[in-house]
Amino acid sequence: MRAVCWMGKHDVQVREVPDPKILNSRDCIIKVKLSAICGSDLHLYDGYIPTMQEGDIIGHEVIGEVVEIGNEVDNLTVGDRVVIPFPIACGSCHYCKHEQHALCDNSNPNAHMAEAAYGYSPAGIFGYSHMLGGYAGGQAEYMRVPFADVGPMKVPDGVTDEQALFLSDIFPTGYQAALNCNIKSGDTVAVWGCGPVGLFAMKSAKLLGAERVIAIDHVPERLEKARRDADAEPLHFEKTSVLSELKEMTGGRGPDAVIEAVGMEAHGFNAADHFYDKAKQTLRLETDRPNALRQAIQACGKGGTVSIPGVYGGIIDKMPMGAAFGKGLTFKMGQTHVQRFMNKLMGHIEDGDIDPSFIISHRVPLVEAPAAYEMFKHKRNNCIKVVLHP
Ligand SMILES: [Zn+2]
Ligand SMILES: [Zn+2]
Repeated sequence: MRAVCWMGKHDVQVREVPDPKILNSRDCIIKVKLSAICGSDLHLYDGYIPTMQEGDIIGHEVIGEVVEIGNEVDNLTVGDRVVIPFPIACGSCHYCKHEQHALCDNSNPNAHMAEAAYGYSPAGIFGYSHMLGGYAGGQAEYMRVPFADVGPMKVPDGVTDEQALFLSDIFPTGYQAALNCNIKSGDTVAVWGCGPVGLFAMKSAKLLGAERVIAIDHVPERLEKARRDADAEPLHFEKTSVLSELKEMTGGRGPDAVIEAVGMEAHGFNAADHFYDKAKQTLRLETDRPNALRQAIQACGKGGTVSIPGVYGGIIDKMPMGAAFGKGLTFKMGQTHVQRFMNKLMGHIEDGDIDPSFIISHRVPLVEAPAAYEMFKHKRNNCIKVVLHP
């Protein structure tokens, strides 16, 4: 089959690779109908995620059709149309039982690698480094899905592939980010980053009862999209003083919650010191990224919540801990427990509350993935979200 393979920094190639096979009785194989390129795939593309190996198949936002089933999977049949959550979860460990699927204890066969960096290992993730399981991803014609009796969700007939696809990641990720804000009616939520996750966070904040959503970015087309599609009030961070503007807009109180949907280009580490030194030495180009988090902390109103769906991998510098402590802020973050939210969010799609396909800016054949990565990275042609057709 053909698949998008990571070949090194700024080098993805569509290559001919062996078809996936059932390896475990709880696996299934899907024929991919659509996959998407995620902002977090750019961290791979830019070479910042450690433990990638040449030839690794990437992609973790996938909808497909079940073509083969392991003999312990009794909830699926061949021909089912399913959307696949990006964290791989066993369904029966302590964390899965508490619906913390992204923290599953049993889905990362390379847990020791993550434990060296984090103390404990999070769940395995499709197409996202050997430290997170070394699983082949779904920017391909076929994909093996482990724990297929737990993750895949059947898509109802009335919902299109493009509408269901983003239940794999960015819709639940935006939703969890908003849910983490503990929104009460009348609240104002400020969101840094008008990329796909930011936009879903804004729409989710409204779904959850926020009165006002303020969108912060510096790409005019994305700010306009936030205004038009997510009913947000745009702030261009290069053209205005974000902190004073937010104060002004909220009667001096500041936002009740802030969402940092930018993230930092996550960087290589085997040990904390190595990472820190490497960052100090080589990442001057990235200093604007932690700036978003610092600014969000600074801007958050007293007693507010800082919600961080943006991906962080290592250690950041100059965390404004005094501001966080002084204002009594709550921090919520982490990968998304996608499995927990899929049913509820599918309901919102079926009820017409939201049509997630609003996010798609480009639809291209799988073989054009290398050019699509380049376009997405540089936000050319108003690129917000690329969907790949195998
Ligand atoms: Zn993603
Ligand atoms: Zn588990």
